[in-house]
Amino acid sequence: MRMMHRTGPWKRLLAAMLSASFALQGCYSLKTFGMQKEVVVMETTAYCSCKKCCGWKRKHGLFFCPAVYASGPKEGERKKVGITADGSKAKNGTIAADTRRYTFGTIMHVPGYGWGEGHDKGSAIKGNRLDLFFSSHKKALEWGRRTLKIKVYR
Ligand SMILES: [Zn+2]
Repeated sequence: MRMMHRTGPWKRLLAAMLSASFALQGCYSLKTFGMQKEVVVMETTAYCSCKKCCGWKRKHGLFFCPAVYASGPKEGERKKVGITADGSKAKNGTIAADTRRYTFGTIMHVPGYGWGEGHDKGSAIKGNRLDLFFSSHKKALEWGRRTLKIKVYR
């Protein structure tokens, strides 16, 4: 059996076309260009930075918002709500993953969610589990729980 696997000039042409685009999708296409791609089936859930989500997470043993619920009634505020485990600001595209498997900065493409990067973690986020950050609670609720084929780049 013959395998045709040519990295011809079309790839360079594609890269040039992508670099001309300043859209987010284009950025990620460029960023991941030449990176190792892996497709992993993962279970995804959603969260946002509202108190409801933080409370829910805490109840389930996660630690996305330690400041709000830090011990002592007024002791908290060590960390701001919406700041991820690696210190970046949670925004659309912020993904919580198992950092033993997917280090901070791992780029992922989630069908229906889009491009994202691992910047957060949680004690219940183990193995092939992801938590996707949404800017609104409504959107997070709409997402619910989905098992999807995730493209992982590193
Ligand atoms: Zn929420």
